[in-house]
Amino acid sequence: MNIEQVGVVGAGQMGSGIAQVCAAAGLQVILFDLNLQALERGVAAISASLQRLVSKDKLSQAELDETLAKVSLSTDLSDLGQADIVIEAASENEQIKQSIFRQLDEVCKPVAILATNTSSISITRLAAVTNRPGQVIGMHFMNPVPMMKLVEVIRALQTDDEVFRAVSTLAERAGKTPVDIKDAPGFVANRILLPMINEGIFCLHEGLASSEEIDTVMKLGMSHPMGPLALADLIGLDTCLSIMEVLYDSFKDPKYRPCPLLVQMVDAGYLGRKSGRGFYHYE
Ligand code: NAD
Repeated sequence: MNIEQVGVVGAGQMGSGIAQVCAAAGLQVILFDLNLQALERGVAAISASLQRLVSKDKLSQAELDETLAKVSLSTDLSDLGQADIVIEAASENEQIKQSIFRQLDEVCKPVAILATNTSSISITRLAAVTNRPGQVIGMHFMNPVPMMKLVEVIRALQTDDEVFRAVSTLAERAGKTPVDIKDAPGFVANRILLPMINEGIFCLHEGLASSEEIDTVMKLGMSHPMGPLALADLIGLDTCLSIMEVLYDSFKDPKYRPCPLLVQMVDAGYLGRKSGRGFYHYE
């Protein structure tokens, strides 16, 4: 399976990062979102990220221009019709993702692979809404995509081995290390990470310590590069809550119950860095 053209659905923090690393690997990228403003924000994030590499002498201006020229923008999903693979990185909501997968199945060429960057949602159920379940797979990049080496390559129950191999090769071409994971709620990364973050939020909720103190404990005590609350702000509190709800609903185990403070902060629109306020304040 030769992959040269990549469609990316969703131009948020993950979609723009995925578009960037694919374009930097020499692939043609079509970035799709619902409206022009979202696409413009996505391209601005890619430009800023590449510009940082130029200022650190890790990239030349010519390479920056070349990478940006490989990314085209669209608000019309049928523009992804010729892509060899589409990587979906829209909001973490199963209804939204199922609707996107149904539409992609209609507009994409029959051999195209449909991948999802979901953090927790069942790939097997997403595969089942298409007429090409063997070509549906999870491709879970980490945040921030240009910096983080890992990609969880998640096989749905239906995924063909050939598709798994093609996606692992694509992850390597994008400079990442793929890890072979079976489909289960939260996969491996978020099965471990999100309960830890949720417990950090419980510590704050119960008044055990301040956000800064909780993060200091985990940074200095456990050598984590970021504390759990700063990391929650980076991920997005809406995304954190969605993942905890998937774990809780899927396993029916109270140990995954989302902290009430997390629920309340999402209700208030305090989503972390992307909204300017979460456990910390941002410019
Ligand atoms: P985000 O909120 O930054 O961006 C989501 C984007 O999806 C927005 O631009 C929005 O306009 C777009 N969108 C919403 N509905 C759409 C639709 N129907 N069609 C096309 N675009 C649509 O979110 P994000 O942090 O980039 O997360 C995207 C996905 O990646 C989620 O599934 C999330 O769980 C997963 N993920 C997130 C992280 C993280 O740390 N944030 C890490 C790994 C995976």
